[in-house]
Amino acid sequence: MKGRDRKMRIGAAVILAALLITAFLSICSCAGSGRSAAEINGETKTDAEEKNETAEHDGASGERPAKPPSFDPSREVVVKRGNPDRKEVALTIDDGWNRDDRILDLLGSYGIRCTVFVVGGRGVAEADPEWVRRMDRMGFEVCTHTYDHYKLTDHPYDYIVWDIRKGQEVIAAVTGKTYPYMRPSGGYYNDSVVQACRDCSCYLVLWSNSLGDTDADATAEGEVAAVLNNLKNGDIILSHFGGHHTHEALSRVIPEVMARGYRFVTLTELMAP
Ligand SMILES: [Zn+2]
Repeated sequence: MKGRDRKMRIGAAVILAALLITAFLSICSCAGSGRSAAEINGETKTDAEEKNETAEHDGASGERPAKPPSFDPSREVVVKRGNPDRKEVALTIDDGWNRDDRILDLLGSYGIRCTVFVVGGRGVAEADPEWVRRMDRMGFEVCTHTYDHYKLTDHPYDYIVWDIRKGQEVIAAVTGKTYPYMRPSGGYYNDSVVQACRDCSCYLVLWSNSLGDTDADATAEGEVAAVLNNLKNGDIILSHFGGHHTHEALSRVIPEVMARGYRFVTLTELMAP
């Protein structure tokens, strides 16, 4: 009886060992298949996404840009300011005529990601996809400032919808992304513009602070003071690529805003609850 008992114990030990080895091998094979699944996923990515991941980020923060958020129809369509509960501000830059790449270099040197509203047509984004691509690679949110950049309140609803969508298409053709934000030329809007934004699933983004850099009489000092004297949590700061003294004013505003303990974030981060 003792001999049979011993054989049974040895048998049980052998079975246990076999089970452990099987379990170990199956864990290894799971890990292996996980890797290959990731590789398969990688192959299904669009060219635009592939470029984003492999591109150098032009000195912007190492964080990978998130996917554009979706439009929430239950929120207010017109956005003038972000979350006031956090010490964050979003720099926004409009237009793109007479673009000043020193502004991109400056933001890159601080690792600041911002939200830009570029004109689709009229010799801007459509004519210069490399510029759009650079900003996308820097982790900027590249959004539409309409295709034509006309005062939207002078136009009927159907044209407004076309102008927003056409602007979004020009950008998406380069970046593969459509952010749910639109800034109207001059900030002009009426009920038709609000309805068109809602129907295009985008927020109508204005601002709560501004350099005033479209004013030909403005000075760099005046622009710096305008922003700093009005600085508050959740500010959306307006500036322009072809503005007056914009690079100089920003190069003084940015370190001072940071010294006051504010963080520069994208519009999406600023609007997060
Ligand atoms: Zn503009």
